[in-house]
Amino acid sequence: MEPKKSEAIILRTKDFGESDLLVTFFSSLYGNLKGVAKGARRSSKRFVNSLNIFSLVNLEFRERRSGDLVWLDSCELIDGFPGIRSDYNLLLRASYMVEMTEILFPLNVPSSEMFQLLKFALSSISNRRNTEETMIMFQARAMKIGGFGINVSKCCLCGRPYKGEGRAVFHPPSGSIVCMACEKESVLIPGMKPDTVQVLAQLQSPDLSLSNTLPGDKDVLGELNRVLMAHIEHRLGKRFKSARYL
Ligand SMILES: [Zn+2]
Repeated sequence: MEPKKSEAIILRTKDFGESDLLVTFFSSLYGNLKGVAKGARRSSKRFVNSLNIFSLVNLEFRERRSGDLVWLDSCELIDGFPGIRSDYNLLLRASYMVEMTEILFPLNVPSSEMFQLLKFALSSISNRRNTEETMIMFQARAMKIGGFGINVSKCCLCGRPYKGEGRAVFHPPSGSIVCMACEKESVLIPGMKPDTVQVLAQLQSPDLSLSNTLPGDKDVLGELNRVLMAHIEHRLGKRFKSARYL
């Protein structure tokens, strides 16, 4: 089999056999893959200090004739994002992002857009740049890329277009906003002011350039947090194994 090369982020590792490592990684070109790094737990020049969770690496691997596993030939560290490992709260956030990536993109479903998003978000939180904004941006964007974008254009119950005036409420079962005439705001049905709906629309736009400085005040961030929490809980909740980072 021809060797393949791709930038990748290490999602998980697990001891395998006597000296090997089973590595789950999200690659830029081929998506989520699992591979065996032969002899990686002995000192091996091919994998030196590169197979740590969250690390950004250049991987070389070969597909096997059968089965889902690939063989890892070599791995070169690009960035280990050391800031994440030195702070327990950042570690929880990074674990959450990695798990969300795995849920949205099972084995062999490539998305270079998702890869760029995860790489950007891990780098941002490792450098402690706007952690809260980064988490909001990551969640909104990941859900959209994974096919679970929130409809902010009209009320899904009466069909009235949302023109950016007055509060809208988020309706988790339909993944859409609804108007105040159709539904009342509550703990389970969080509301949004017009600025919040606008920022959410920007975060889901295909032209978004990755940035962790969100326009909007503290109220906007709080509302986005509540809406995304309700949305993710409704769509993916049961599939999360790890505790939520919040
Ligand atoms: Zn309505």
